[in-house]
Parts: sequence; structure tokens; C-alpha cells
Amino acid sequence: MHKIEGIVVAGGGAVGLMTALRIAQQGVSVTVFESAPNLVEEYRASTFHPPTIEMLDEVGIAKKLAEEALVADTFQLRDKETGVVAEFDMGVLKNDTSFPYRLQIEQYALVLLLFEALKSFPNCQVLFNHEVKGANPKEDGVEINFLTPEGEQTAICDYLVGADGARSAVRTSVDIPFDGMTYPERYLVTFTTFEFRDIMPDLAYVNYVSDPEEWFVLLRSPGLWRVLFPTKPEETIFDTDPDPTILDEIAQERYQKVHETGTPYPITWRNIYRVHQRVAASYRSGKVFLAGDAAHVNNPLGGMGLNGGLQDAFYLGKALALSLKNSRNEPLLDHYAEERRKIALNFIRAQTAQNEENIRQKDPAIRLEKQREMRTTASNNDLSRDYLLRTSMIQGIRSMAPLPQTY
Ligand SMILES: Cc1cc2nc3c(=O)[nH]c(=O)nc-3n(C[C@H](O)[C@H](O)[C@H](O)COP(=O)(O)OP(=O)(O)OC[C@H]3O[C@@H](n4cnc5c(N)ncnc54)[C@H](O)[C@@H]3O)c2cc1C
Repeated sequence: MHKIEGIVVAGGGAVGLMTALRIAQQGVSVTVFESAPNLVEEYRASTFHPPTIEMLDEVGIAKKLAEEALVADTFQLRDKETGVVAEFDMGVLKNDTSFPYRLQIEQYALVLLLFEALKSFPNCQVLFNHEVKGANPKEDGVEINFLTPEGEQTAICDYLVGADGARSAVRTSVDIPFDGMTYPERYLVTFTTFEFRDIMPDLAYVNYVSDPEEWFVLLRSPGLWRVLFPTKPEETIFDTDPDPTILDEIAQERYQKVHETGTPYPITWRNIYRVHQRVAASYRSGKVFLAGDAAHVNNPLGGMGLNGGLQDAFYLGKALALSLKNSRNEPLLDHYAEERRKIALNFIRAQTAQNEENIRQKDPAIRLEKQREMRTTASNNDLSRDYLLRTSMIQGIRSMAPLPQTY
């Protein structure tokens, strides 16, 4: 059988490429199998939290990303009717991180930077039109079946990483359950060149606007505002290829409710997607490992999905490379699988579920109480720091058991 030297990563998205970079930087051979013919340049996530920026800094990417990104050193919780409820200043984290802010930039900008960085490593190759169909962990490696334009092929590698997204073929083929729930409504994500600061001059770059029915998120990316809305269940009619005209109609109606202009908004892009809260029952099956959306998916409120995935990649890439160099370092590999899964369950899932509950709270008494609590938190340095340690994902990283000495 054809042998592929080193580690194979299924999926050339942000998480797969970050994993590959960590492996390549350790001098270990890595091959990325990407099913698409090119890098997938979709608008998806757009927020990078401080621990992720630290990790991107360590792999040599943060500076380049920051050159293209906006620096969001505050964010707001707002009420749709009454305006700003609380503004958080991330500067209170200045002694907790070298990057006390979020970077706002589209996910594909990072994908491009990672891909460029990988080009300088002769021990790394990215193969497009290579779709992993199945994985079979063996005593001496992992057998992979994959589809290329030349047909189905089989090969064996030392380790396989499933970074092949939420519908991971790798996860399915090793029978790891992906339990959790799916929200009844889909989320509509849109972009506009309309300048919201002309009508809401006090906006931050990141704004969560609560309302029992018409909540939305307003995020600034370079040159554009991104507006995210929940759709109503009766609008959730698209299973494949949503009709852009219908999406535009829904979006225009929602925009008018954000601020009535009476004329159509200049919407430059739109997409609708299903949102889940799911965590894989295990992040490893022998020599097969899961990372990113293949391992955990959550609602986007708080911007933790991609960040969690990039953090997985940071730990997993190095752990696999060191393990291969140091004859199978099981404690290091188990550390990854157990600690990163705990973070997905105890921090990412918990925080994003809480964010969703708060932004759409229907009970007026609970809403008011929550708003009071957030105002108090934002105005007190210690409370604010505690809150920001959680929402910036720093607390999750700090909760990890110490890395084995060999890391
Ligand atoms: C439409 C949309 C909007 C989103 N918006 C937000 C947002 O606003 N905020 C937020 O925080 N998160 C958002 N997310 C989630 C965020 O984008 C993901 O958490 C992130 O993309 C995860 O990265 P990943 O590399 O794990 O997976 P992906 O980005 O899905 O990358 C997986 C890669 O694997 C490839 N692949 C798939 N199957 C195979 C296979 N069998 N073999 C080989 N390659 C394969 C795919 O082509 C893709 O390139 C959004 C997701 C979607 C789909």
C-alpha cells in the first residue's frame, strides 16, 4: 500500500492549515488533503480573540493578520430599543495578555496567510481535489481512503487529523458520536457598505444587540459591516443552495427594523446557515484525531467556534509532531484529546449558550436584571476583568491541565 510520510490532515480550512503549520514548523512531514479545487474563500467567522492572537504570534502570522485587521479594543452589549447597555474595555486585560483586544478580519484572510506560510516548508504539501472518504486506524498507522480526479485511492500514514469541518467524514468513519442540539432557526449573515456609524455614532466594532424577537449582531470588518440575524422558523426553507433573491428580501426587511431608511440597503453578500451546539464524544480514536468544527460546533454569539478550532490546532499540531519525533508520546496526545474537549464543553458551549439566552431573553424582568448586572460589571474593574477573561477565552486556556513536560 502507498505510504505517506508523517501526518495527513483532512481539510485545508483555517484549522487544518494551522495544524499543518505547527507540524511543519517542528520539521515533521505533513500532507493536507483538501476536497475543494482551491482554498475555500467564504465569509464565515471574523473575530480573533487574545489567546488565538498569541498562538498566531507564535507561528509567525499575527503581525501580518493585524496589518489587515481592525483592532477592536471595546465591545458593546446593546438593547435594540434603548441603545448601549454596557461597553467593555478590553484594556483591563493588559496584564493578562500581550493582545488585550480582538482582531476583526474575515476568516479567509487567515486561510490565505496560513497557506502562504506553508509554501516555505518543503516538508509540507497541500493537495486539492483530495477528498478523504474514510479512515481505518491500524496498529502501525492509519489507512485512509480518498477520492482524487484519478479515482479512489488508499494510503497509510502515521497519524490522521480530521479538520474536515462539521460534517467530518473522518469523524463519521471512526464512529465518534456528535451529540448535541440544532437551533430551530437558521442564522442569516449579511454584509453591507452602509455606514451604521452615521446613524449610531457610538457603535463599537463589535456590538451584540438584544431583543426578544429581533436581536442582531453588528460587527465591523475592514470596509464593511457584517449583520447577523436569526431567521424565523417559517423562513427556514432552504436545505440546499438558498435563493439569493429570497435571502435579500428577508435581509432588507430585517435591516429596515434595525434602522428604517425607506430605501433598500446596499447588501453586498448574504448567506444562511444552520447553527448547532455539538461536541464529539471523543477527540481521538487511536491515531486519528479531531480538531475544529469536526470536533465541536456552536452558535457564533461570542465568536468562539473558529477560535476554539485554531486553539485545538495549535496544541494538536505540536503534540503530534513531537510524538512522532519522540516515539509516540501518549500522555501528550491524551492531554490534547481530553483538555481541549473539556474546554469545548465547559467554556465554549457554556458561554455561547449563555450569550444566546441573554441576547434573546423574552422575560422583561430577567432582561432588566441582566442589563443591570452587565452595567455593574462593565463599571467595575475587577468584575469587568473576570467577565472579559471568560468572554475572551483566556479562562478556558488557563483551565487546561499543565502540559506534559515533553511539550
Ligand atoms: C456560513 C457560515 C458562517 C459562519 N459564520 C460564523 C461567524 O459569524 N462567527 C463564527 O464564530 N463562526 C462562524 N462560522 C463557523 C466557523 O466558520 C467555523 O468554526 C470554522 O470555519 C471552522 O474551521 P474548520 O477549519 O474547522 O472547518 P471549515 O472551515 O469547515 O474547513 C473544513 C475544510 O475541509 C474541507 N473538507 C470537508 N470535507 C472534506 C473531506 N472529506 N476531505 C478533505 N477535505 C474536506 C472543506 O472543503 C474545508 O476547506 C460560520 C460557518 C459557516 C458555515
